[in-house]
Amino acid sequence: GSSTSLVARADQSYVKYKDPKQQIQERVSDLVGRMTLEEKIGQMSQIERANASSSVIQKYFVGSVLSGGGSPPSEKASAATWQQMITKMQKAALKTRLGIPIIYGIDAVHGHNNAYNATIFPHNIGLGATRDPNLVKRIGRATALEARATGIPYTFAPCVAVCRDPRWGRCYESFSEDTRLVQLMTASVVPGLQGDVSSRHPKGIPYVAGSKNVAGCAKHFVGDGGTKHGINENNTVLSFHDLMRIHMPPYDDAVIKGISSVMISYSSWNGKKMHENKFLITEILKEKMHFRGFVITDWQAVDKITNPPHQHYYHSIQETLHAGIDMVMIPYDYPEFVADVTAQVKRGSIKMDRINDAVSRILRVKFTMGLFEDPFPDPRLTSHLGSKEHRQLAREAVRKSLVLLKNGKKGEEPFLPLSKKAKKILVAGNHAHDLGLQCGGWTKSWQGQSGNNITGQGTTILEAIKSAVDNSTVIDYSEHPDKGSIAKSDGDYDYAVVVVGEPPYAETAGDNQNLTIPSPGPEVIKEACSLVKCVVVLVSGRPLVVEPYIDAMHAFVAAWLPGTEGHGVADVLFGDYGFTGKLPRTWFKSVGQLPMNYGDKHYDPLFPFGYGLTTKASGKS
Ligand code: BGC
Repeated sequence: GSSTSLVARADQSYVKYKDPKQQIQERVSDLVGRMTLEEKIGQMSQIERANASSSVIQKYFVGSVLSGGGSPPSEKASAATWQQMITKMQKAALKTRLGIPIIYGIDAVHGHNNAYNATIFPHNIGLGATRDPNLVKRIGRATALEARATGIPYTFAPCVAVCRDPRWGRCYESFSEDTRLVQLMTASVVPGLQGDVSSRHPKGIPYVAGSKNVAGCAKHFVGDGGTKHGINENNTVLSFHDLMRIHMPPYDDAVIKGISSVMISYSSWNGKKMHENKFLITEILKEKMHFRGFVITDWQAVDKITNPPHQHYYHSIQETLHAGIDMVMIPYDYPEFVADVTAQVKRGSIKMDRINDAVSRILRVKFTMGLFEDPFPDPRLTSHLGSKEHRQLAREAVRKSLVLLKNGKKGEEPFLPLSKKAKKILVAGNHAHDLGLQCGGWTKSWQGQSGNNITGQGTTILEAIKSAVDNSTVIDYSEHPDKGSIAKSDGDYDYAVVVVGEPPYAETAGDNQNLTIPSPGPEVIKEACSLVKCVVVLVSGRPLVVEPYIDAMHAFVAAWLPGTEGHGVADVLFGDYGFTGKLPRTWFKSVGQLPMNYGDKHYDPLFPFGYGLTTKASGKS
């Protein structure tokens, strides 16, 4: 209680910012008051893991370290390996004059996706299809625990983009084309990750309940999902009114729920780079919306502000700090950054007030999270990584995220659920037995990768089918069965499950102006479905052109990017659970129609936003 504080206060060695009984605002001001310019600039820097040696952390007073694109310390790094790495960095930071802990950040965007053996949840597009905010909150909590299991207290999530054009390579990171649905999910996932905003904390103050939560980051501010032709990092051309109406509302929800940070988009709004947009960052986000956390740049974004790119940082840094950036994700060029900011503050071209504001915002998050009291990874949390409970939760998410778009040919009985008692079935397509394809981008590595060795645990769709059907059912699996071999067994197969889709991708590499099902997907569909009654399961980060093949299919399921728990797919295919998912996006007929979103004047989709057939659950057998 207060008596110990009084004793402490009488003591010469009393340091106010170190006293957890002090109000956070008091601790922040006390600490900022003690910091040198060098220490402040260091606090504003976030550097890449591989550069963050103890000596660099100490020399530059580094405030934050990240795993850019998820980069793990080693291929199959265990939770303990992550913890050791972060402990070492933290020890170095705590040895500096003021002992300010670092905050380590990573892209845990569908579970703690860069850690080997983590539970991989469906990407946001699939979560949008669940229409289940409580589920999304529980996923946030599980993701936070898994990140904490590796010692990481900060994730660059949620992506609250409102993707208005599926040609965008980040469409799957967006919950929906519909602002309201993105808001609903944002308002759930933020308290899932960070903990519920305590009633003792007024609106907008970042609040993270403790060692089982992580600081979140709403991204990418703002209009990232509205760029022309869905081209990544491109220009979003919209009136202020439409920007505020379509893309801004999820940020309001995130702020109300106490989001700790906001990441700025590489994109531009009406030709001006977001990273230099003082009006939107400072006047709207910080002042009008009362955002009290810190604003962070995207990866090396300072490089991209001015034309031509990679010009000297000097001007770009000035622009971006003036605009209201607090933390600079500057993986490699931090010595130059430090030198430039130092010179500019001395010259007066960057104001000390702005620096103090930036540093205060960062420190407020660190204090609120309890990092000063508990700076180290907690090994007791290790067992949460890929835990049984989390994998069950992911399985639930998968079955709720699947959208049934066709069930039976015209005039025929519904085709699904499939019988578990079939004599012989065909499973076709390379997405049927590949965890990497099932998880998509931002899994293990930034761009994702195919193959079953991306993680040590998980179930492919094929494996899930095998465990769902009777022991006596014969399953033929082929990535690309040729017509001849199917024809030979014509009449033999009760049905086929065809699983095709997109390869993993991320960001610009995922931009796609055609949106066709990649080869050999269309051939596999045509050949299998022409000879055997088939359900097609599409594994993709967005709607693709399916109109030419839809008539050949007996049933069609959009599975999005479901993650490691293939059992969730079998759960609904075989009727243990009913289909309940609803389209989070408009399913277009042809790319010529794009952009086409729910509410548009000319709306002529193959399947409208919100569409999704249901089946009855037989009850888990
Ligand atoms: C992406 C961000 C991500 C960052 C750090 C950037 O390329 O745009 O979404 O948080 O990298 O990995």
